[in-house]
Amino acid sequence: MSIEINKVTVLGMGVLGSQIAFQTAFSGFEVTAYDISDEAVRAGRERFDKLAAIYAKDVAGAGDGKAERTAAAITLSSDLAQAVRDADLVIEAVPEVLAIKQETYTKLGEYAPERTIFATNSSTLLPSAMKDATGRPDRFLALHFANQVWQYNTAEIMGTPETDPKVYQAVVDFASAIGMVPIEIHKEKAGYVLNSLLVPLLNAGMALSAGGYAEPEAVDKTWRIATGAPVGPFQMLDVIGLTTPYNILANSDENGQRLAKWLKDNYIDKGKLGIASGEGFYKYS
Ligand code: NAD
Repeated sequence: MSIEINKVTVLGMGVLGSQIAFQTAFSGFEVTAYDISDEAVRAGRERFDKLAAIYAKDVAGAGDGKAERTAAAITLSSDLAQAVRDADLVIEAVPEVLAIKQETYTKLGEYAPERTIFATNSSTLLPSAMKDATGRPDRFLALHFANQVWQYNTAEIMGTPETDPKVYQAVVDFASAIGMVPIEIHKEKAGYVLNSLLVPLLNAGMALSAGGYAEPEAVDKTWRIATGAPVGPFQMLDVIGLTTPYNILANSDENGQRLAKWLKDNYIDKGKLGIASGEGFYKYS
């Protein structure tokens, strides 16, 4: 018998959690969004209102008040036990800190019904590092979204050796049902598919410019013209924002730290943080 998913609870109403909750509700599922305090829930509510405006403008079928109705239909909660008590699927998007995730799963394991599937949206932690805290490793896996889920709609699905194949399939089907393109990953891999490809490309681009071989514009131009890709690595970095790559590089090996210093001295310290600050490698109006 296949597993039915109707009621979905999202933990964390930050950047990604709010998008996942909104997209899921927009696709017709019954959604509860949980965050840690009433204040965080209020901030989440504001995120939903902003998402409603974006969907109304940019997403097909979101007009005629559907986007606003979607925001209003999401149940908000700062009570974890109540938020998950009847969930078929819980998607976790709490901060990327292993101890916080493990603590969250320990509580979840107690509060959620036995049938409930747990999925982590973690970008860098492997599900194996969290599976024991769930108390139900057979019903646990990673479901990884990309920022701006309504537009960049991949959902990378990655289990552990203990994930039940029926649970895995149910989450693949769920991803399709909320308008994502499911990407099935057969074994655990840090960085999934997307970041396994993207991070080396971005680092190679930065190494070329930091090493004085070619300007960012020349690197991007080469990548665009010779591969047909619409944007090059520095254009991507401006979209991502320079702070996250900086933090990752600053905590990596010697080569990474050299790139981090280059980013800091030439861009971050000058307020050039990417599109969000109006300037990064390029200027934006
Ligand atoms: P964020 O900081 O924007 O949001 C985190 C939210 O979790 C906040 O609303 C915070 O109040 C809440 N929170 C804090 N402690 C909590 C707890 N104990 N229980 C429940 N909620 C708690 O972070 P984000 O960027 O949305 O990232 C969340 C997860 O999504 C991370 O695992 C991250 O790796 C992953 N992710 C992020 C991106 C991205 O581009 N930002 C992309 C893919 C995946």
